[in-house]
Amino acid sequence: PVDKEELGVGTWKLLHTMAAYYPDDPSALHRVQARRFFDALGLLYPCDHCAADFREDMGKTPPRVESREALSTWLCERHNEVNEKLGKKPFKCTMRALDERWLKGDSS
Ligand code: FAD
Repeated sequence: PVDKEELGVGTWKLLHTMAAYYPDDPSALHRVQARRFFDALGLLYPCDHCAADFREDMGKTPPRVESREALSTWLCERHNEVNEKLGKKPFKCTMRALDERWLKGDSS
C-alpha cells in the first residue's frame, strides 16, 4: 500500500522544486502545461481523499501560472492548507524562505 507520508514528502519536493525553477516569464506552453499538470495531479494523486480535497481547494483558488513567484506562492499556500488540516505549522510563504528551502536549500 501507498505510504501517505512518504508519498507526500516526495510529491511536495517535486512540486515546490518545479515551482522554484518555473520561468519568471513563462511561455504560453509553460502556462498551459503547468495548469494541466496540477489538474491531472488532482485526478491522479494516489490518495483519494487527499486528491479530492486538493481539487476542492484548487476549485476555490486555481493555479497561478503567470510567473515563478506566483506559482511558488500559490503552491506554498496550498501546502499550508494541508498543513492546517493535519495540525502542522504553516510555512512562511515568502520568496526568500521558499528559495532558501527549494532553490538552494538542502536536498533532504
Ligand atoms: P511535508 O508536509 O510533506 O513537507 C515536506 C517539507 O516541505 C517540509 O519539511 C518543509 O520543509 C516544507 N514545507 C512545509 N510546508 C510548506 C509550504 N507550505 N510551502 C513550502 N514548503 C513547505 N496527508 C494526509 O494525511 N491527508 C491529506 O489530505 C493530504 N493531502 C495531500 C495533498 C497533496 C497534494 C499532497 C502533495 C500531500 C498530501 N498529504 C496529505 C501529505 C502531507 O501533506 C505530508 O506530505 C505528510 O503528512 C508528511 O508531512 P511532513 O510533516 O513530513 O512534511
